Amino acid sequence: MANHLHDALFGRHEGSGATFLILPDGSRLSHADFGALAMRYAGALEAAGLRPGDRVALQLEKSPDMLAVIAGAVRAGVVFLPLNTAYTPAEVSYFVTDAGAKLLLCDGRSEGALAPVARAAGAAIATVNADGSGSFAEAAQRAVPGPAAVRGADDLAALLYTSGTTGRSKGGMMSHRNLLSNAEVLANVWRFTDRDVLLHALPIFHTHGLFVATNVALLAGSPMIFLPKFDVDQVIRFLPQATAMMGVPTFYTRLLDDPRLTRDLVAGIRLFISGSAPLLADTHRQWQARTGHRILERYGMTETNMNTSNPCEGDRRAGTVGLPLPGVELKVCDGTGREVPRGETGTIEVRGPNVFQGYWKMPEKTAEELRADGFFITGDLGFVDADGYVTIVGRGKDLIITGGFNVYPKEVELAIDALPGVLESAVIGAPHPDFGEGVVAVIVPEAGASLDDAAIRASLSGTLAKFKQPKAVAFRAALPRNTMGKVQKTVLREEFRDIFAS
Ligand code: AMP
Repeated sequence: MANHLHDALFGRHEGSGATFLILPDGSRLSHADFGALAMRYAGALEAAGLRPGDRVALQLEKSPDMLAVIAGAVRAGVVFLPLNTAYTPAEVSYFVTDAGAKLLLCDGRSEGALAPVARAAGAAIATVNADGSGSFAEAAQRAVPGPAAVRGADDLAALLYTSGTTGRSKGGMMSHRNLLSNAEVLANVWRFTDRDVLLHALPIFHTHGLFVATNVALLAGSPMIFLPKFDVDQVIRFLPQATAMMGVPTFYTRLLDDPRLTRDLVAGIRLFISGSAPLLADTHRQWQARTGHRILERYGMTETNMNTSNPCEGDRRAGTVGLPLPGVELKVCDGTGREVPRGETGTIEVRGPNVFQGYWKMPEKTAEELRADGFFITGDLGFVDADGYVTIVGRGKDLIITGGFNVYPKEVELAIDALPGVLESAVIGAPHPDFGEGVVAVIVPEAGASLDDAAIRASLSGTLAKFKQPKAVAFRAALPRNTMGKVQKTVLREEFRDIFAS
């Protein structure tokens, strides 16, 4: 009798007194304590009538209890869908209804707003608060858990909804094998062991914090310093106790802004990892100059888990996302799915045990993006260099076509970022009466720098072909970003939609 994911991630630590979580107040939770909590949540899910394959939706604050609910769901064979805490009740309504969830777990503070949502979706509602209180937490204390549900490698473990920057978000179906195979590969290539301590300040409703960070730590037996969110003071306080940190690029830029980031502070760190959004080559270099560490950048997405990584030993190349992970096949294709010659830019497709099972209840969408031969069309544009390193140049939907020419925003952004006084930039296309689309550059100046439109354009005229040069330049104090640090180009496209309107 086995439960594929449960046995590998949690079963192996059963009864162990070793530390699993180190909490912000310095207190510790052992694997045995966590396992007992998870087992009670499994019992509470069963007592609430959920059977293997049923869905539970959770919109919970990051906490040991949230993690224990997830571990309990894995144990009970219940498919879990973790939801971004920023989602509004209307958005939660879509997910609960779409997934056919039988139960919605939320924070006590949002119960009033979410109760009608659950009722309309035919789901029960109960609460789990970050401090371990709440109606479902109490039910868990009374629960009598049964044995772990039998679940095979191909059974669904989770529905992870895409962040949905275009159109409705889609439920990515993740099997036990998808999650476990990827965590095994990552724990191995990143050399995680029980001597590591992972500083965890990412959200756990997203693939990065949940499936990459947490599953790797569980597999390797590495304790996690489990912080509710990225708070620069807290991170600086805990860095000396950690050996590794996984972060989005904004973690690194915010730490670089703080004078307390020194070589001494991170003397005990073995590995800094970045992903979920592009890490500027400049950030990579600044980090190395300040700390002596070369950040290891990797690339993945909700639907595929992780696809590529720079090497742990070997050359970590700034601006690239490294090499395909063991077991992952990656190719760069034209619009028809034919592979383009090495070095040319096209759409990245990947295949491997990491690639999801398709979109929940969306067979047409699945067929559009997941080929019959198992290759998933990522929608990311990139190229592979002579040594096999992959560079992402942007999302396919961000490609700008102006006067019939393709402009890859990243190329223009890199040229702009290299100009003195520029902190960062985002390049988008806006409808243009003559060219179809015109290139728009949104630029964030460095503190104290004064930049002007004409000077920027004059500087770029020497480095970029005319059709790639921005036809409009705007300055902003910051770029709009989502919680994972991704620049929200849809927001910018909306803002600048009429900039070329005649
Ligand atoms: P999500 O499904 O929210 O994890 O978003 C996945 C998308 O984030 C990918 O398809 C990429 O466009 C982007 N992404 C993730 N990691 C990187 C990276 N290291 N560099 C550039 N883009 C990245």
